[in-house]
Amino acid sequence: MEKEELKRNLEQVWSRIEKAKERSGRKDNILLVAVSKTKPVELIQMALELGQFDFGENYAQELRDKSRQIPDPRIRWHFIGTLQRNKVKYLIGKVVLIHSVDSLALLEEIEKRAGKAEVKMPILLEVKLSPEESKAGVGVERLRSLVESALQKPHIKLQGLMTMPPYFPDPQQARPYYVHLRELRDKLEGELGIKLPQLSMGMSNDFEVAIEEGATIVRVGTAIFGEREQCRVSAGN
Ligand SMILES: *Cc1c(COP(=O)(O)O)cnc(C)c1O
Repeated sequence: MEKEELKRNLEQVWSRIEKAKERSGRKDNILLVAVSKTKPVELIQMALELGQFDFGENYAQELRDKSRQIPDPRIRWHFIGTLQRNKVKYLIGKVVLIHSVDSLALLEEIEKRAGKAEVKMPILLEVKLSPEESKAGVGVERLRSLVESALQKPHIKLQGLMTMPPYFPDPQQARPYYVHLRELRDKLEGELGIKLPQLSMGMSNDFEVAIEEGATIVRVGTAIFGEREQCRVSAGN
């Protein structure tokens, strides 16, 4: 991809975010995480030069390798993929936010590693809203107890919720999922007397709908960096 094309894509996404914000009468900030999974570091470097500083990766080792190849202190890495417990160690101290925590075992591993590193790790809990899909995420019925566990961990900073609906060709079909996540957040805030300010929801084909429904973080890959290769081996990652 040429820098001109990347620039055009980024400017388009930034402007679509602004328009969706205006449409929904929002004045707060929306964070764009540019999802760079499977894409070369040269593209990340280019995006950085264009003023994009937040990047999302799905594979812990890929994130670790890329962060070593581009040790630019302006980059803010986000981990958004399925996380295995034995990969947590690659992320502590490297990423600004783990979006995809969905089990007590993961919470405990993050607490342990963050404690050793003497940092407080910001996380989101990933919620699974479509039972029929073999998706990651904590089920709605177990969400509250996972929130309560997270709140008890001194080295974990729970900042909100994340979700990833099934793929729909029509972005309007994703809307009920985003409404649902916002309502779950509001309910937890009310019941537990806490603040969960961040809602990470919305991808290339539906981020405007997500913003209309309250997303504070959108995770956009294809619309910025182009299509990804389909056949990636993720084993051992
Ligand atoms: C790949 C991925 C994205 C970005 O998807 P696009 O459709 O390319 O924008 C967002 N969130 C998660 C969790 C992903 O795995």
